[in-house]
Amino acid sequence: MPDATVLEKLVSLCKRRGFIFPGSEIYGGLTGTWDYGPLGVELLRNIKTAWWHDNVTVREDVVGVDTAILMNRTVWQASGHEAAFSDPLVDCKACKARFRADQIAESQCPRKPSKHPGEFTECQLTEPRQFNLMFKTFVGPVEENAAMVYLRPETAQGIFVNFKNVCDSTRIKVPFGIAQIGKSFRNEITPKQFIFRSREFEQMEIEFFCKLDTSMEWYQKWRDERFKWYQDLGLKGSNLRLREHDEKELAFYSKATSDVEYLFPWGWGELEGIAHRSDYDLQQHMKFSGKDLSYFDDETKERFVPHVIEPSAGATRSLLAFLCEAYGEEEVEGETRTVLRLHPRLAPVKAAIFPLVKKDGMPERSMAIYKDLQRFFQVFYDEKGAVGRRYRRQDEAGTPFCITVDGQTAQDQTVTIRDRDSMKQERVATDKVRDYLFDRLGAQG
Ligand code: ATP
Repeated sequence: MPDATVLEKLVSLCKRRGFIFPGSEIYGGLTGTWDYGPLGVELLRNIKTAWWHDNVTVREDVVGVDTAILMNRTVWQASGHEAAFSDPLVDCKACKARFRADQIAESQCPRKPSKHPGEFTECQLTEPRQFNLMFKTFVGPVEENAAMVYLRPETAQGIFVNFKNVCDSTRIKVPFGIAQIGKSFRNEITPKQFIFRSREFEQMEIEFFCKLDTSMEWYQKWRDERFKWYQDLGLKGSNLRLREHDEKELAFYSKATSDVEYLFPWGWGELEGIAHRSDYDLQQHMKFSGKDLSYFDDETKERFVPHVIEPSAGATRSLLAFLCEAYGEEEVEGETRTVLRLHPRLAPVKAAIFPLVKKDGMPERSMAIYKDLQRFFQVFYDEKGAVGRRYRRQDEAGTPFCITVDGQTAQDQTVTIRDRDSMKQERVATDKVRDYLFDRLGAQG
């Protein structure tokens, strides 16, 4: 069973150490929004960089785009979001709280938290009604219906509407994918579980265009690859699963869908959905835009509308999974050590450099190492306080290596390098520190 207290501890660590702060905090906050601090922004960037590197940079068959958050309203009519991107909402007339009708069993009655909404004698729940999750705003100076647009609830549609642009402007050929990382917005009825369900979050999505007859093969490939990606970055087997949707769960146009799920402190939650979306999206955009989005294959001389496999991941949600997995507490010499065992590719700071004491040339020697490493890695210099406490601070930040300049450095030009996980130290020649880090940190992408 996952440890439910881990979430509370993580929320506190994230605030204390500058990973994640509540949004607009000094004004009492804004529910469902979060701000990423100095360590959090590095961690999030590293997740996105790893995803881009592994899914775009090293593949010949995927290219990237970065499309506008505000899009023509017809996009969302074509995609079906305007009519159907909604959750069933239930109001309680007694306490004015709102709940998702399909999550009553996991929700608490605000007046009687030991009961679910509707179970307490004072509860007065309404019948469920559909609530559209898209945020509305206006383009231009007049707030009228004709100027109304939505903040995108997913990045995928920006890819579909650019399918023809990408085909026409590159030499890429079907089968190929278009990738995008960016912000999405959903007016979630009950944002909860820290950053897991936010109203503003980041997604990492790929639309992979292929021919119908190879589409199931591509679906299997993407499903397996995406699952392995999380494993490679440290999410353990028993906390990670791939769940295939049954017939009833599938969208009407989808031939198959699987979710990558992580065992969060409160239970299983979706990190990514990999869906075979058939040719639904391109067909819809052809219908609504009147533009031909079919593809002509030069070799076979065939014209067809590609089918699509969509691996759709949450960057911020996976950040929470990586933090949950990395969090550990252990007894060391009578004290509790808190450590984030983040994969080195994801760690916000790769190495910290310390002078053992602030004298005898140690700060200067440390600073020289720091300046050299800074050109290649995110590193941190710290000379304040006992060295043991400096190690603990870096353990909490997930820093894989601490490099200490001590009295011996002046004599034999070596430093100690301490490993975060084993806490073992080894002496390494000062001029070999950079190579040492390159070897152990691996690809930085
Ligand atoms: P859920 O069922 O949890 O609401 P979903 O099935 O609606 O998720 P998708 O539309 O498939 O989610 O979005 C793809 C990914 O985007 C999700 O797997 C998740 O990682 C992320 N995501 C979706 N909604 C949110 C949110 N409100 N906050 C953070 N991440 C989100």
